[in-house]
Amino acid sequence: MTNTSMTSSDQTTPVAFLDLAALHAPLREQLDKAWNDTLTNSAFIGGSAIGMFEQEWAEYCGTEHCIGVANGTDALELVLAALKVGPGDEVIVPANTFVATAEAVVTVGATPVFVDVDPNTLLITAEAIAAAVTPATRAVMVVHLYGQVPDMDAIMAVSDAANLYVVEDSAQAHGATFNGRRAGTFGIAATFSFYPGKNLGALGDGGAIVTDDDKLTEEIRTLANHGRGSHLLHTHRGRNSRLDGLQAMALSIKLTELDGWNDQRRRVHARYVERLSDAVEMLKTLEGGEPVHHLEVIRVDHRDRIREGLDARGIQSGIHYALPCHKHPAFAEFDVQPLPIAEAAAARQFSLPMHPTLTVAEIDAVSNAVLELL
Ligand SMILES: *Cc1c(COP(=O)(O)O)cnc(C)c1O
Repeated sequence: MTNTSMTSSDQTTPVAFLDLAALHAPLREQLDKAWNDTLTNSAFIGGSAIGMFEQEWAEYCGTEHCIGVANGTDALELVLAALKVGPGDEVIVPANTFVATAEAVVTVGATPVFVDVDPNTLLITAEAIAAAVTPATRAVMVVHLYGQVPDMDAIMAVSDAANLYVVEDSAQAHGATFNGRRAGTFGIAATFSFYPGKNLGALGDGGAIVTDDDKLTEEIRTLANHGRGSHLLHTHRGRNSRLDGLQAMALSIKLTELDGWNDQRRRVHARYVERLSDAVEMLKTLEGGEPVHHLEVIRVDHRDRIREGLDARGIQSGIHYALPCHKHPAFAEFDVQPLPIAEAAAARQFSLPMHPTLTVAEIDAVSNAVLELL
């Protein structure tokens, strides 16, 4: 938070939803140097910084390969395209997610089959996957939403039994673990977004795919590079999706802070739980899981009135998400059955300020305001 003057009343303590400037301030010298070097070398596209970050991110996640791409949505689409998921194929998608997960499925021509979520975590479950499998099902998009990995032991068991590809949309879960394993290491491949507001964010758009599969890696690299089989030969109908050199440099710098930032987020979450868990519905942490709390989602009645009250006190909040995917006009065609848990959650959920530099005073100001407004 840029505001450092503490006022006597909680009601006048403004709290930002996210404060990127505060995160970048201690890294300013390194980031300035990265930008300077980029200009000096003019390595805007390509260059050694990309391979370096790819190696660092694969090592961090615990995978063989990392492929840097332009954003997290491209990453999802490239994985599905490389797996040759397309027209006639069904892909299971949790109804409660950011639309990008479903968007990638329709972009490759496949059919999203939306499933309901667990009421305690609002994440996809093994039971929902098992119930949605048909002979046409090829893949399941497991979204580690809000920074939490669902029960991957159960999910891998049902997915393997049905011979499905598991694609982990890890856009909100950089560094999260389940039973000691990092998000991104369970399925055939996992995707990350480095949108600035994510737990690890670039200075613009960026994304990556991690996998242990050599052939898939080669296929994705080809597709992301205009379908280029060799320098002058285009063997596939590809596209252009690149991570910029400057973004790779910024990500390498910021990666050194990721674990510390995630620890801070855990502390922020613990304080919110202490202050609010008796009064509002909060997300439950699964046994064996170590979430990274990308968002602090609570569920209340009269959400809009409470958000207005927070806004009047200078406290920012957000909604993730106001509608489950199948209720958006763009996906109306795939709204084929009620998904009551996701639908009820969408009407009541909203997100409190959550970022690594929140102070206890700020968390308490938010908590007091919520308690007053209930
Ligand atoms: C942010 C996000 C994406 C998309 O990432 P972009 O880099 O913005 O394209 C995909 N899935 C989820 C769950 C996200 O939160």
